[in-house]
Amino acid sequence: MNNNSTPPEHGFDTRAIHVGQDPEPITGALSVPIFQTSTYAQPAVGEHTGFEYSRTRNPTRDAFEACLASMESGAEAIAFASGLAAISTIMTLFEAGDHIVSSDDVYGGTFRVFDKVFRDFGLRFTYVDTTSLEAVEAAMEERTRMVWVETPTNPMLKVTSIADLAASCAAKGVLLGVDNTFMSPFFQRPLEHGADLVMHSTTKYLGGHSDVVGGVVAARRSDVLEKLRFAQNAMGAIPGPFDSWLTLRGMKTLGLRMRRHESNAFAVARYMEKHTSVESVIYPGLESHPGHECQRAQADGFGGMLSVILKGDLNTAKTFCGATKLFFLAESLGGVESLIEHPAIMTHASIPADARTRLGISDTLVRLSCGIEDPADLIFDIEQALSTAN
Ligand SMILES: *Cc1c(COP(=O)(O)O)cnc(C)c1O
Repeated sequence: MNNNSTPPEHGFDTRAIHVGQDPEPITGALSVPIFQTSTYAQPAVGEHTGFEYSRTRNPTRDAFEACLASMESGAEAIAFASGLAAISTIMTLFEAGDHIVSSDDVYGGTFRVFDKVFRDFGLRFTYVDTTSLEAVEAAMEERTRMVWVETPTNPMLKVTSIADLAASCAAKGVLLGVDNTFMSPFFQRPLEHGADLVMHSTTKYLGGHSDVVGGVVAARRSDVLEKLRFAQNAMGAIPGPFDSWLTLRGMKTLGLRMRRHESNAFAVARYMEKHTSVESVIYPGLESHPGHECQRAQADGFGGMLSVILKGDLNTAKTFCGATKLFFLAESLGGVESLIEHPAIMTHASIPADARTRLGISDTLVRLSCGIEDPADLIFDIEQALSTAN
């Protein structure tokens, strides 16, 4: 190779470690410093260093936002105190009377903030199975301003084609927003498929160590970014410097962790699929999954989340969830530790019972977040918990 050739664009894992993270210029500190400051001394009246007040801008948050923007192939990313703070701030793009079409099995907290908070401000929502383009188009109205999708969904792992939806939304001048929490940008980058907004609960895979709550939105369109940046500062739902630093530290190993989350999920899915106490396994990586081909086409992998339907009744499922020792019984997902939960009673309790039944969130449905432990230990844990429950 000749030395004058342009270097290739850096790969994902390299950008995760380097973008926004040049050594600090005064001391050469390699780790981005935690700029634990609320304000910045100004050289003269009307002059400043680019930093005036930490709600508006903070160097540690800047580094986190720059790195995430690169991961998601966005022009910019804007960080928030939680995933729900990110979603709530997105809602300021709209006004009373506007209409939003949303996936019907969205994260429980997303449904709750739409239904119990933003409806009171005059926003209107229709929930549809977004895997059907016809259903989305049929739900659209003159005042529809955004389609909001999770793919794969939580906990049923239904897969929606982002590109098909993006084309339909673009033709109608409707924004497409994707909650990409389950995939992380390592596996799926919705902006590359035409989405306008991509959002994460960084509490999950991006932070990755179950030690920080946060959220982020990335976009390419300057009009959208300008409004969100304004709202971030005006509403103030920002992450602090330490939370920004913790998330950025987690992001450095995102690629390594996602590969292992996925190989563990495959191992657990294949084991459970053959087990006589299991009715069925829902994992997009399995050929039996209805969204498998679509997922293959639009993502670089299948992720670390799976759901299983057990044989038996509510009691079987509750006993199983309580009997695992390595899979901790807890809400949340995406950390290095494996977690197990019962959606109908735990994460999705805020969804009305009839809607839960329609979505398939039954009493015997259990959701697993596969961590990065040794696969043989995870399988042993599942095996002993299944025999305790049966
Ligand atoms: C956790 C989660 C959220 C909410 O994020 P918080 O950081 O808890 O506010 C939104 N969407 C999905 C898919 C999530 O898993």
